[in-house]
Amino acid sequence: MPRVAIAACPDYQDEHVAAAVAALFGALGEDLRAGPGERLLLKPNLLSAAAPERAATTHPAVFRAVAQALAARGAVLTYGDSPGIENTERVARVSGIAAAAEALGIPLAEFDTSEEVAFPEGRVLKHIYVAKGVLEADGLVNLPKFKTHALMTFTGAVKNLFGCIPGTLKAKEHVRHPNADDFGEMCVDLAAYLRPRLSVMDAVVGMEGNGPRSGAPRRIGLLLASADPVALDAVAGAIAGLPPSAVPTTRIGGETGLGTSDLDRIEAIYFRDPSDPAAAPETAPASRIARGLLVPDFRLPDAVHSTVRFVTTTGVRALRGFVLNRPTIDPARCSRCGACVRACPTEPKSLAADGPRDVPHYDYRTCIRCFCCQEMCPAGAIDVRKAPFGFLLGLKSRPRK
Ligand code: SF4
Ligand code: SF4
Repeated sequence: MPRVAIAACPDYQDEHVAAAVAALFGALGEDLRAGPGERLLLKPNLLSAAAPERAATTHPAVFRAVAQALAARGAVLTYGDSPGIENTERVARVSGIAAAAEALGIPLAEFDTSEEVAFPEGRVLKHIYVAKGVLEADGLVNLPKFKTHALMTFTGAVKNLFGCIPGTLKAKEHVRHPNADDFGEMCVDLAAYLRPRLSVMDAVVGMEGNGPRSGAPRRIGLLLASADPVALDAVAGAIAGLPPSAVPTTRIGGETGLGTSDLDRIEAIYFRDPSDPAAAPETAPASRIARGLLVPDFRLPDAVHSTVRFVTTTGVRALRGFVLNRPTIDPARCSRCGACVRACPTEPKSLAADGPRDVPHYDYRTCIRCFCCQEMCPAGAIDVRKAPFGFLLGLKSRPRK
């Protein structure tokens, strides 16, 4: 039975995070595959150049504690990620990860270039462009953030691995897999190829609402870890109030055998007070532990996936405006930076500004609703507007309730 270890962690003070990580590592025991001399790549969420308080990126205190625990086992570490449109060094610096890494002598891995690898077992990804820094490592330790996501509803361990594909190549995958289910299948294939040794999720302060970049920080007070990224996402999603079926990567990851999404078939080990070594953890089916940790009124993004699949696969394009949720820009909040236009993966772009001082406008006829523009907007100026008749196609704007 897969195991997910969960440790309470009230804040990002180093001693609290280190105690939580020690508890997680102790609970996972033989699930931890990190031997002396092994080259392990740490893969935090470096979505964008945002300060740690914004909760858009993995907190440096979590990065530091996991790195120290792995180094103590003799692992040789590197780190890296491919942000949406920004430079990795800048994102690492602003998010505090670069300083944490430099203090521990952990170099940034090569993420600007990639190699094409064959993956014949893949369901939708038969060939994958993977960052060289990932391929040069013996294994990968995944450090996702507990956040909502406009396209995927929730982004966790499986989705975090998308950053192992370098920048512009990620945009191509968005175009090739335009709806959430297709995109979820692609992410699951990628995770099946990468097989992270371990995933440690930063849920001390997560993000709710308009995630993964412009939502509101929400204190969750937990760190979670597992060798099974699907099980980890299933448990984290349940704590956010989402059943496994509501998150494509979790549902598909369970269906395809990448991992276990059935909460009754996952063992959860919960440390209520990791700083007290005498306090025994609670061990129970994850369904029960997650119920006890449920974050009340956690705000989800507006889900879009069921309608996008219908409209893009049945030829009823004339209905798009009525049934598909869509991104919209609030001119009052827009700084005219153009990041949304640069992030748009369609060719030609589905949004453009008439001039450098103008707010970009959308062409909803070509927009595939990937929400990369919303993800990359540094001003939080892009909202998701609900379609008036989305409910006719079974759109569940709030999957859990
Ligand atoms: S306009 Fe936004 S949602 Fe539409 S395709 Fe471009 S990035 Fe995706
Ligand atoms: S909507 Fe956001 S990303 Fe786009 S130009 Fe305005 S501020 Fe920049």
